[in-house]
Amino acid sequence: MLPSSFTGGARYMMQNYLDAMSLCKCFGYPDFFITITCNPKWPEVTRFLRDTTLKPEDRADILSRLFKLKLDAICKDLKERHLLGKAAAVVYTIEFQKRGLPHAHLCLFMENEYKLPTVDHVDAFICAEIPNRNEDPELYTLVKDYMIHGPCGLANLSCPCMVDRKCSKGFPKKFQDHTTLDSNGFPVYGRRNDGATVIKNRIELDNRSVVPYNKTLLKRYQAHINVEWCNQAGSIKYLFKYINKGPDRATVVVVQGDNQNEEPSKDEIKEYYDCRYISACEASWRIFSNEVHYRYPFVTRLPFHLPGQQNVVFGPDEDINSVLNKPSVKVSMFLSWMERNKDPNDTMARTLTYVQFPIFYVWKIENRCWEPRQKGKAIGRIHSVPPSFGEAYFLRILLNKVKGPKSFEDIRTVNGHVHDTFRDACYALGLLDDDIEYIEAIKEANETATCSYIRVLFAMMLLSNTLSRPEVVWESTWKYMTDDFIYRLRKFH
Ligand SMILES: [Zn+2]
Repeated sequence: MLPSSFTGGARYMMQNYLDAMSLCKCFGYPDFFITITCNPKWPEVTRFLRDTTLKPEDRADILSRLFKLKLDAICKDLKERHLLGKAAAVVYTIEFQKRGLPHAHLCLFMENEYKLPTVDHVDAFICAEIPNRNEDPELYTLVKDYMIHGPCGLANLSCPCMVDRKCSKGFPKKFQDHTTLDSNGFPVYGRRNDGATVIKNRIELDNRSVVPYNKTLLKRYQAHINVEWCNQAGSIKYLFKYINKGPDRATVVVVQGDNQNEEPSKDEIKEYYDCRYISACEASWRIFSNEVHYRYPFVTRLPFHLPGQQNVVFGPDEDINSVLNKPSVKVSMFLSWMERNKDPNDTMARTLTYVQFPIFYVWKIENRCWEPRQKGKAIGRIHSVPPSFGEAYFLRILLNKVKGPKSFEDIRTVNGHVHDTFRDACYALGLLDDDIEYIEAIKEANETATCSYIRVLFAMMLLSNTLSRPEVVWESTWKYMTDDFIYRLRKFH
């Protein structure tokens, strides 16, 4: 559910986040986290600018186009050529740093049989060492040019990674004989003390400064491509918060007056604007209508409604009778699903729940009907509603269970008995006895909402008298309501 304070851009980001989370529900947690940065030295760029005096950054449009081409090629390699194994899903978000080049944060979900079972399998895909210069000179140069962090630290205090005289990315790392896991379950890649070094800005750096990479991707795409293995559930919330964080903002101050010798007068009007910073690269990226958030497979958002409560869109001047007589009024995505289930020749439709439906069927907006899917891949996500919505909330619970209903009565029918309300049907199915649905609702909210919102949600559940055993719900969810406790404690001391 989206708190009502979410509007416009925030709501859009939230939708993206929820879509990404439904991919997680379907495919488990992502296996690889890959960051790809645009390289202004790509041979295509150099070739293009050869006979000009232009620098790559002067042609942000070319960089944008080329980055998109490379990114599409990488996705194809991952999805179709199975470069890291058979992939089930890919999600990426494009980010633009101030004055910087575009980069993509990509999460790759593998098919079950291609997930890396243990940390011992990581080395085949990810490396954090300088290759032997004589054995593979090409790879050596690529690692030297693109995959070395820094130099930072005392040798270069102005490096962007430096915060409080320390590298915020934790470089240089420690030497490490083998790839292992740390106490939090994060991979620590092998970095042997084998004497291999590179010189960057006249400073000698060794395996401790290598950003983890995949040899094949680096050779094929010749850019900064950081590949990390994410094997644990704990990182998922962080990953999605990270890849869905908002656009860069800049506070711009407009100062009047051009006489530098004059003391600025106290009452001078200063105008502050909270501006969104859009770099030339971002502008061209958006002009070309390239996706900022990409998801494969596609997530079909599935609306639903109580009987007779579908949304009807009409203009202010339209006559109410003609609006109500429009055929589209009686057809919603949700109602059409039940219509499809009535087709006696379609035995497939009736074996599916609403959320499974988009895997096999496509919503044709022009005909306002569902048709069997010919190509592509999609998963469904049912709009969520909070328990305070009453019947709509119980209807949603049933929609996750009921297969092939032809009417609202069918959804309320349990073992041949038509119940009066969706709530009764939920009870009859035993879905509410142990308050599991409420616990699930809080857990689901935890993935997207703040602690204070979750506390309000729990209070709402208590007040609405719907919990059969509030203490059980409390026991399994109090953690989510207290996540911010330490932070608050620090703030007040
Ligand atoms: Zn650093």
